[in-house]
Amino acid sequence: MHLTIKKIVVSLLFVMAISSCNTTPKQDFIIHKDHFGETKDGKPVERYTLSNLSGMRVQIITYGGIITSLEVPDALGRPKDVVLGYDTLLQYEKSNPYFGALIGRYGNRIAEGKFSLNNKEYTLVQNDGKNHLHGGNKGFDKVLWTAETELLEEGARLKLYYLSTDGEEGYPGNLTVEVTYTLTQDNSLAVTYKATTDHSTVLNLTQHSYFNLGEEEDILNHELLINADAYLPVDETLIPTGEIEAVGGTAFDFKTFKAIGKDIENKEIQLLRGLGYDHCWVLNDQGTGLRTAALVKHAVSGIQMEVLTDEPGIQFYSGNFLDGTLPKKNSSSFYGHRSGLCLETQHYPNSPNEPSFPSVVLNPGEAYSSKTIFKFSN
Ligand code: BGC
Repeated sequence: MHLTIKKIVVSLLFVMAISSCNTTPKQDFIIHKDHFGETKDGKPVERYTLSNLSGMRVQIITYGGIITSLEVPDALGRPKDVVLGYDTLLQYEKSNPYFGALIGRYGNRIAEGKFSLNNKEYTLVQNDGKNHLHGGNKGFDKVLWTAETELLEEGARLKLYYLSTDGEEGYPGNLTVEVTYTLTQDNSLAVTYKATTDHSTVLNLTQHSYFNLGEEEDILNHELLINADAYLPVDETLIPTGEIEAVGGTAFDFKTFKAIGKDIENKEIQLLRGLGYDHCWVLNDQGTGLRTAALVKHAVSGIQMEVLTDEPGIQFYSGNFLDGTLPKKNSSSFYGHRSGLCLETQHYPNSPNEPSFPSVVLNPGEAYSSKTIFKFSN
């Protein structure tokens, strides 16, 4: 008797298992986690792979929240990795020009690493000549983030958390930061940034992926459109002069699609200072929420990327400092001059010292929130 009951239970379980296999809801997204490496001081770093059914796959590590690879289908449907990066954690730790990384607390430059807030002067780390760049010596690109995943109907999500303590790199306030990467079925990767602080501080978070949508060594044949009528000219140390200059008829005019290489070698002072493009564009339609900030496409691969953001500015950096010394991933060669381009959505550089620029101050009780979407099509 006992045996018979056991048999019935076993067969029932078997039938249930089979039917549950058949009725398992279609899995639209996959999240996979593996070990990427260990930091020099022995801390484990994980890699998360998010894939959808439309041929897009993104890999992100907990060190720096770095996007190490981003595959999208080209015009023939073949997967193409469109971001620059390295093979190993050691390479990221050794010398990374911010490939794929989250940037904070302040994306871009603050003049001489100094600013005042509520009548108090703050001194930040000076890591770019006299200026402060991308959060200092150990910005958010070099810290370990705590990760959590969510598999939703609308997307695969990786949430990253970091607590930046009071005084870190010179910044005031304990700052709690949450960055969420969401991959959706329309081949978009959304990046949302949230933060709160216990003391007034300044904040300007961004993502520093270098893109190359084609097979060529440099990005000069990529065509770019920036939804901006003006940009911020800079001084010789790449700090905005405070002026807002119309782009119409200049090398900085990307109001309609233009090849990046078309005017980049013009002998004008702004391009000479940036060694190419390394400037912040003043985006149109500010304060209207998410809107198209830039579009970039490569004719041969057929891949186009649209960047949408609610930020007021976008730094277009044409990879001018890449000089053939950094090793290419999955290859024995090196990243050449201008082999990748960055489109960093953000507030304006040096805003803490420019009262006329949109404010970057975050006070206790306020919630920092910003969103950028990288959307791919072929
Ligand atoms: C800056 C460049 C800088 C680069 C470092 C960019 O965001 O605009 O000036 O050299 O980051 O990789």
